[in-house]
Amino acid sequence: MLTRHGSTANRYDGAVPGVELHQDLRNAVRDLCRAFPDSYWRELDAARAYPETFVKALTDAGYLAALIPEEFGGSGLGVTEASIILEEINRSGGNAGACHAQMYTMGTLLRHGSLEQKRAFLPKIASGELRLQAFGVTEPTTGSDTTQLKTMATRAGDRYVVRGQKVFISRVEHSDLLLLVVRTTPLDEVKKRSDGLSILLVDLRQAIGHGLTVRPIRTMMNHATTELFFDDLEVPVDALVGDEGKGFRYLLDGLNAERILIAAECVGDARWFIDRASRYAKERVVFNRPIGQNQGVQFPLARAHVNVEAADLMRFHAATLFDSNAPCGTEANMAKLLAADASWEAANVAIQTHGGFGFAEDYDIERKFRETRLYQVAPISTNLILAYVAEHVLGLPRSY
Ligand SMILES: Cc1cc2nc3c(=O)[nH]c(=O)nc-3n(C[C@H](O)[C@H](O)[C@H](O)COP(=O)(O)OP(=O)(O)OC[C@H]3O[C@@H](n4cnc5c(N)ncnc54)[C@H](O)[C@@H]3O)c2cc1C
Repeated sequence: MLTRHGSTANRYDGAVPGVELHQDLRNAVRDLCRAFPDSYWRELDAARAYPETFVKALTDAGYLAALIPEEFGGSGLGVTEASIILEEINRSGGNAGACHAQMYTMGTLLRHGSLEQKRAFLPKIASGELRLQAFGVTEPTTGSDTTQLKTMATRAGDRYVVRGQKVFISRVEHSDLLLLVVRTTPLDEVKKRSDGLSILLVDLRQAIGHGLTVRPIRTMMNHATTELFFDDLEVPVDALVGDEGKGFRYLLDGLNAERILIAAECVGDARWFIDRASRYAKERVVFNRPIGQNQGVQFPLARAHVNVEAADLMRFHAATLFDSNAPCGTEANMAKLLAADASWEAANVAIQTHGGFGFAEDYDIERKFRETRLYQVAPISTNLILAYVAEHVLGLPRSY
């Protein structure tokens, strides 16, 4: 099991000066990832299959329990260390999106759940006996406008009866529990539109086939995402996390960790693209010289490197604030935007540097290109981050 003592903070080789980046932890994750080479991810991608063996290896090594306090069986590490784990997975050519939510979805339970809930669930989530890696917010008719969501949970004695629909809810088929955001008070009966939302911890093993139908959505990359239909699903009232009606606040609480962790995955992607493309640019000879000797090839790579290093500074700044319990909403959002832009820029440069071979599956560039594109849209789209910064940092009028 990974422990707090297992991650000695050392200077990272060749990256951001002054930031301690836990080289031992990086090396350990790299060692684990070495057993899961490009071909492993490529074959799963072709079959749109879930990386069961990889996720089991990560779980057994304790990495997915990094953020769970030691008293509940986890490692009690910070978002900084957790983000390094995910960065290294993506930097190895893998895709942490398959399991990152097992790390952070439990945060809502940890911060707002009752002691009984924490005792009942967190140790089992830490050991991997229970998988809580599905988080249901998005709905087909309301999208980014979360406060408008329509899935309704109506109290009936000792149960809630849930009706509604969700879309793009990932890893439901590989999860035992789902953290579900529902409306418990209709929108026209609340003072503020962010009031009246609640969070339920749904046991998928009991729900599927008894009021919950799961329909897979095939996407451009290997991402086990689904559509959910709730037709009078009965959920016991003790599945409520925190107070009824305060779910929106709990939701916002969890988003900063998610944004920082996904920023780190994007940093990992960007570094993978730049490593691969630089290597190729040195080896590929056209017109009797390596293509990387041409400024038209090397400058875009150099710029992509500069941009990912800058994004990485914001990622560590946000993570440090988070780990010291300081407000970090703005920094977490900015880190996610900068890192997602950096990885997308690096993906474009890598495919261009590889010429035609960038499009061939065997080179893995096109696979990672598809995978990293997601982060311009999910879990929050770039425009919504810019709208947040415009309104909350610059004091501009709310645009929506
Ligand atoms: C593969 C995948 C996995 C996902 N996994 C999950 C999951 O596990 N759980 C979950 O709850 N959700 C998940 N999502 C959903 C994801 O969070 C949403 O797709 C995302 O938040 C955007 O919502 P939307 O798709 O409804 O887009 P919309 O809200 O319809 O937006 C469409 C476009 O319009 C832009 N836009 C909308 N409003 C404004 C505005 N006011 N100003 C400027 N631009 C605007 C957006 O930026 C976007 O580019 C996933 C999505 C994908 C594709």
